[in-house]
Amino acid sequence: MSSPALASLVARLKRANTLGSVVGLLQWDEQVNLPPASSDRRAAQLTLLAELHHRAATDPEIGTLLDRLEQTPAPAGSDEAVIVRHARRDYDRLTKLPVEFVAEKAALDSEAYHVWTRARAESDFAMFAPYLQRQLDLARREAAYLGHADRPYDYFLDRFDPGLNEVQVEGLFAELRTGLVPFVREIVGSPIKAPEGLLTGFPVAAQDAFLREVTAALGFDYQRGRIDVAVHPFCSGDAADTRMTTRFKEDQPLDALFSAIHETGHGLYEQGLPLAWLGTPLGEAVGMAIHESQSRLWENQVSRSRAFWRHFEPRLRAAFPARLDEVSSERLYLAINEVGLTPIRVESDEVTYNLHIILRFEIERGLFAGRITVGELPAVWRRLSQELLGLEPANDGQGVLQDVHWSGGAFGYFPSYCLGNMIAAQLWVAVRRAMPDLEEDFARGDFTRLLAWLRSSIHQHGKRFDTRELVRRVAGEELSPRHLLDYLRERYAPLYLPPKR
Ligand code: ZN
Repeated sequence: MSSPALASLVARLKRANTLGSVVGLLQWDEQVNLPPASSDRRAAQLTLLAELHHRAATDPEIGTLLDRLEQTPAPAGSDEAVIVRHARRDYDRLTKLPVEFVAEKAALDSEAYHVWTRARAESDFAMFAPYLQRQLDLARREAAYLGHADRPYDYFLDRFDPGLNEVQVEGLFAELRTGLVPFVREIVGSPIKAPEGLLTGFPVAAQDAFLREVTAALGFDYQRGRIDVAVHPFCSGDAADTRMTTRFKEDQPLDALFSAIHETGHGLYEQGLPLAWLGTPLGEAVGMAIHESQSRLWENQVSRSRAFWRHFEPRLRAAFPARLDEVSSERLYLAINEVGLTPIRVESDEVTYNLHIILRFEIERGLFAGRITVGELPAVWRRLSQELLGLEPANDGQGVLQDVHWSGGAFGYFPSYCLGNMIAAQLWVAVRRAMPDLEEDFARGDFTRLLAWLRSSIHQHGKRFDTRELVRRVAGEELSPRHLLDYLRERYAPLYLPPKR
């Protein structure tokens, strides 16, 4: 460490991060283990720990040290420069928001969440609308406190993916939309459909054993990580202790498996961040888009490939004796690569998923620009859904009310999912350029070369590079939707669009 001021800053950042990790552990436990009547006790524990964490992260000494280090800036790209730049961002975000604002936001988040769950169940947008309006007002105020009153949506995009803004995302999504909408129409119009209800009666214990075998083969280190069961799959924790979840249904074995593989992608990224820098920006993920690129790469490019299933199909058949006797390899592969329309984002496949995101991006930027009012949302949602997907949700519960994000004011988050898909496709091209025979490894159940490449290209850098810079370095080109379009066509056209005779 080059200076005592930097060493002192890092010690304080690590201390705050350790407290934050305890908050995360309590939240994980709440989703996985907490007895139903113990939630009051947990709320008290979380409130106290969150307070201690906040106090440590807003320690005035951190501000003093940042001021001092900023007086003689370290060379751009050096460890110190990266730490100071991101610690400043985080510190300002925590200290520039007035205490009253933070309290008002916390109260609204909790209230709006409960109203949203009821509104969604009753498909009643009018019930939720005033809360969404208040979240939007608070979001504008938050951007203003941080000095971004002129471009509040850019502030939120940059928050999740450092360096990205609305104009860039708009350009990427416009190109993706132009290529994707007609391709989806073609697939939907194809007489070939993925088989439904193909896989039934898969015992949960055997599913659990199988997905542990798969995720361990991909490289997840169970010596410093776990997988458990929760209602919604997620990955939390850090490089030292990574917690993933999945969920099981006897008649949907692929859901549990692919959820687990997706979270393993997140988990492998966390486990690959440099342990020595744990608790500092150099030990943290770049942002949500890069995080999602890791989960999507493992879930889609790798685990829906023929090479992957050459190794794992015989194992799957052996793990579930008699369950797959009537299912041909080709039908199984089609079920694994199912594409179809649904109004629900989280139930959609990797092709149509991107259109669900473009819809939300259009709405968010329209709201922030004042082109769309909250009251108009249900109608705008239906129109965009028709334009993009060619369908309208049966009601607002399956339309504008389907996602939790806006109830918590998480604007600017959705684009990360689609950007993650683009980046995954770019990484996929780059890694196969470096190792043209990579998929032969998969057919042997060996993923070590891919993981090593991701470790050295992405994971080890922490936040050293912003999203676009990292893509540029690894892929040798700008962030672009071109490879995603190529990849989707390469994988899905042969399955759904056989050449006409
Ligand atoms: Zn994810």
